[in-house]
Amino acid sequence: MTTSERGAAGQHTVRRHNLALVLREVAGPEPVSRAAVAARTGLTRGTVSSLVEELIAAGLVTELAAPRGGTGRPASPLRLDPTGPAGLGVEIGVDAVAACVVDLTGSVRARRSVPSDHRDAAPPAGLATAAALAAEVVAEAGLEIAGAAVALPGVVGRGGVLERAPNLPRWVDVAVGEELGTRLGELPVLAGNEADLAALAELWSGGPADAVYVSGGIGVGAGIVLSGRLFRGAGGRAGEIGHVVVDPDGPPCHCGGRGCLETAAGLETLLRETGAADLNALAAAPPIGPLARAGRALGVALAGAINLLDVPAVVLGGIYPRCGPVLLDAVRAELAVRVLSRPAVQVTYSTLGPDGALRGAATSVVQDLLSDPGGRR
Ligand SMILES: [Zn+2]
Repeated sequence: MTTSERGAAGQHTVRRHNLALVLREVAGPEPVSRAAVAARTGLTRGTVSSLVEELIAAGLVTELAAPRGGTGRPASPLRLDPTGPAGLGVEIGVDAVAACVVDLTGSVRARRSVPSDHRDAAPPAGLATAAALAAEVVAEAGLEIAGAAVALPGVVGRGGVLERAPNLPRWVDVAVGEELGTRLGELPVLAGNEADLAALAELWSGGPADAVYVSGGIGVGAGIVLSGRLFRGAGGRAGEIGHVVVDPDGPPCHCGGRGCLETAAGLETLLRETGAADLNALAAAPPIGPLARAGRALGVALAGAINLLDVPAVVLGGIYPRCGPVLLDAVRAELAVRVLSRPAVQVTYSTLGPDGALRGAATSVVQDLLSDPGGRR
């Protein structure tokens, strides 16, 4: 590489960095002027204007009408363009499929879900259902799709391969990201664990920067966020709290072990113990005994995690927010006696509803775009 080539590469890197810097300012809660962006970033007004033009041309930023009054040329405030490129999120659950489109501002522009039981089914049927649903929300939203991410109820290795999902015994080493991408016309599709993506959705919606997020459902998983970043573990497999043992002599688990948290606090156990037909019936009349037992088991597993990691907050999502105060109180009581750290760990229900993982999947695409607008594929 010649000196001038190196210089050009350096300039390209600087411009890419500055594009991200400017976009971060525009992505704030209030519209901002070019002058304010220049003041906050330390870039010259000329540089900011040139970068803003590039971001407008890419459909990422839009100008609002300039306010009336004042002297001189009024400044047109800038904000993210809600008609710009969007993120597609897909969730393949144990017994359902969902898809949504989230625009650059984080708003959900289309969302659909259908029942689709994958427990005894081979992957192609579920993948076809997911692809069809994704195509429907994309058509409904009518936005350019920058990329997609799919949330999965199991261990997702590098390259978007679902290695293992204890509740989906026929989905072993399935390249879900690649398969879906092919079915969606060669769209780039990343894959992630559903609890990890829900934990990120929680973080991006203003949740704590250090927290264990627990996603309850037929399976139970966790996403661990440390210093505002997802902790994935050496192989991307961290957070399998559903298979932390809470009773060594307990009932057998789908994973092959015994007495895992999932056997004490998973949806199937709650329904079996209460006789409720489904989650709606359970939520309509929350049964105190079974929910207190589930909460205690969650507290035991979480206390172990918190004593290891020293995180000050727990967010319970998925089905748990629908279980009422009994489960929450039982988790808090268990943590109060088992966790050594002070002050007490904050335990709250997620406010994102059952769509945390789905929202996280779609928003992860948007977040990637916002953090590196010059690096679009
Ligand atoms: Zn297990």
